[in-house]
Amino acid sequence: MSDVRIGIVGCAGRMGVALIREVANNPACVLVGGSERTESDAIGRDLGDVAGLEPLGYTVTAEPKKLFVDADVVLDFTVPATTADHAALAAESGAALVIGTTGLEASHMAALESAAQTTPIIQSANMSLGVNLLVQLTQQVAEILDPDFDIEIVEMHHRYKIDAPSGTALALGRAAAQGRGVDLDKVADRGRDGMPGERKRGDIGFAVLRGGNVVGDHSVVFAADNERVELTHKATDRTIFARGAVRAALWAHGKPPGFYGMSDVLGFEN
Ligand code: NAD
Repeated sequence: MSDVRIGIVGCAGRMGVALIREVANNPACVLVGGSERTESDAIGRDLGDVAGLEPLGYTVTAEPKKLFVDADVVLDFTVPATTADHAALAAESGAALVIGTTGLEASHMAALESAAQTTPIIQSANMSLGVNLLVQLTQQVAEILDPDFDIEIVEMHHRYKIDAPSGTALALGRAAAQGRGVDLDKVADRGRDGMPGERKRGDIGFAVLRGGNVVGDHSVVFAADNERVELTHKATDRTIFARGAVRAALWAHGKPPGFYGMSDVLGFEN
């Protein structure tokens, strides 16, 4: 099979740079361009230069339309409104779109679902292969173990993170709740302080740590009397998200139109 042609929108962002490096180093794909917002200092610079690599022969453009025509798959880690616009370009050109942008609201999701009628759209708030496996395993273990096992989710992130618990911790909570056949909103215990009283059987607890430059640690603890099962994932670098996105891009190429997630890419059954 010939190389998959990849375009990167928002290519000068933190994830954009990680994506340029990942695509440039993957022999199964070829980079065919990158875009940025009009005011970006990166406009006109070589993509390799933006990512601290040798020149790659493509300059950063403010006009993404051609990029969507040239690429088989476009990677998008930008901002929600821009992602919705890109979904329309993907639908128009037939390029597949891999979306890592978070904070998508109902109106943005509607734009993605509409584009998914005509082209493959792959969207996930966490593209790490390991985290997606952790979510899957959490659901399976919660299905197997009865509520004698108390479930606690512990996460740690860098000191700059502004939301808590992390989106991934909540996704793990949802997976555990799904495994048990309960609604997370009814059993989540998101903060203990003072005299919260005894733990309620069946609750799913969350604990949040903040400090240093921790990229993201997540553990799911299943604690019964006299034994504990712990599932843990630790991220030390954002390249794991770029690696997952490129894997999703290679998977998406040639797929029929539709709205997909990382569980499809990784072949997990829900
Ligand atoms: P960032 O701010 O460093 O990068 C975003 C880039 O998008 C910037 O360079 C910005 O100029 C560019 N951009 C904005 N508007 C644009 C437009 N109209 N056209 C082209 N480019 C435009 O942020 P980041 O840390 O790289 O994160 C980007 C997004 O990816 C965030 O939503 C973040 O939460 C998400 N993220 C997702 C995952 C995942 O696994 N799904 C992992 C890390 C980050």
